[in-house]
Amino acid sequence: VASRSTISTQVAIVGGGPAGLLLSHLLRRSGIDSVVLELRDREYAIKRVRAGVLEEDAARLLTEVGLGDRLHKEGQRHDGIYLQYAGVRHHIPFRELVGRSVWLYSQQEVVKDLIEAHDAAGTPPRYSVSDMQLDNLVDGSPTVRFSQGREDFELIADFVVGADGAHGVCRPSIPETNKKTYTREYPFGWLGILAHVKPSTDELIYALHERGFAMHSMRSNSVSRLYLQVDPHENIAEWSDERIWDELDIRLGTPGWTLERGEIFDKSITPMHSFVSDPMRYGKLFLIGDSAHIVPPTGAKGLNLALADASYLHDGLAAWYGNGDERGLDEYSEKSLERVWKIQHFSTWMTRMLHRFDESGSFGQADGANPDNVDFDHHVQLGQLRQLCESERGMAHLAERYTGLPFLRYPSAE
Ligand SMILES: Cc1cc2nc3c(=O)[nH]c(=O)nc-3n(C[C@H](O)[C@H](O)[C@H](O)COP(=O)(O)OP(=O)(O)OC[C@H]3O[C@@H](n4cnc5c(N)ncnc54)[C@H](O)[C@@H]3O)c2cc1C
Repeated sequence: VASRSTISTQVAIVGGGPAGLLLSHLLRRSGIDSVVLELRDREYAIKRVRAGVLEEDAARLLTEVGLGDRLHKEGQRHDGIYLQYAGVRHHIPFRELVGRSVWLYSQQEVVKDLIEAHDAAGTPPRYSVSDMQLDNLVDGSPTVRFSQGREDFELIADFVVGADGAHGVCRPSIPETNKKTYTREYPFGWLGILAHVKPSTDELIYALHERGFAMHSMRSNSVSRLYLQVDPHENIAEWSDERIWDELDIRLGTPGWTLERGEIFDKSITPMHSFVSDPMRYGKLFLIGDSAHIVPPTGAKGLNLALADASYLHDGLAAWYGNGDERGLDEYSEKSLERVWKIQHFSTWMTRMLHRFDESGSFGQADGANPDNVDFDHHVQLGQLRQLCESERGMAHLAERYTGLPFLRYPSAE
């Protein structure tokens, strides 16, 4: 049997996505040692296309910790969104309503900034690790065994953080008897494209249409991101570029407005579901980001939640290392979950309000196959959207939630 090299650190972080990388960055700034173990290689991590909206507090935090340069140069501040229904577009002016904004800056750019900061500090993640195994999570020194290249390692730490996303090894390391999981499947997914074309809109458009939801987002002045609600089992090969643009035209169309077309350079279908694992702590293992919870993308919250968890767990760890104060770590799971469920509510609310629930299922009701019910539900959605857009308080509620709940801090401000 080949021998294992032993490494030790204060905090072992499994997963080098935005949550794990941010936590490690924050810990380094507080003088706490950590090692990030990442399954993929550096190139893959930097290129992975995902979310694109940063809440105001997420953008502020990144700026405060030295990661705001490119965000402020290349990102775009957005002061509102459009909601569209019955062929009419309504502006929700966030700044006027609640004095807050969001930033459009891709997740892959956030990851790139974090990786570059780690490289500059001489603490790059360990990439292309495999065969991860977690031990001693409750008693003794937590240990992560893994392989890298042809070598086997054993990483011994005070704490292990599961930042390894929805399909990682950390959550499954918590025994079934010590956790409860909550799941909500949706009978649809999003077909997302990236195209080389100037956005045809100044703000994001969220559209409810009889044929299903559509969305127009953007990544820069020359790259547009658009989405269509589709069956999650749809074969992407059956969606030619022309068919995608035609369908976007139908669902996003309003009189006098033109959707500019361009070369599609990325397309994929993502099924949609919600998930929560409770608690977010087991002994000396803490879960952050997608390893603990998944939200449907309609509220643009997944990335923000991941960053918020990382920031809050950092505070708890910093208090523990600072003066042995355990309260932050003890409160971490309960307080994070309270916040997570509020965000699950917002994401579910947006999803229900804006998607078409066809014969393949309605919201947990066995009568979803009845076309009368489908039509009825669509008209209820129109009623809901009209009430929202006709009421300043209704719009302010959306604006407040979309721009984001305050990040949790420990110790909390007196
Ligand atoms: C296709 C897709 C599109 C999305 N689009 C949006 C969107 O438009 N808007 C939005 O708000 N959110 C979106 N999300 C959600 C958002 O991207 C996630 O919430 C966010 O990435 C969570 O960050 P994280 O760091 O917790 O997890 P991840 O980004 O998943 O990072 C986990 C990391 O752990 C690594 N890893 C996995 N297993 C192991 C292992 N065993 N050992 C070591 N490392 C491991 C992975 O390679 C990855 O780098 C999308 C997600 C997906 C999958």
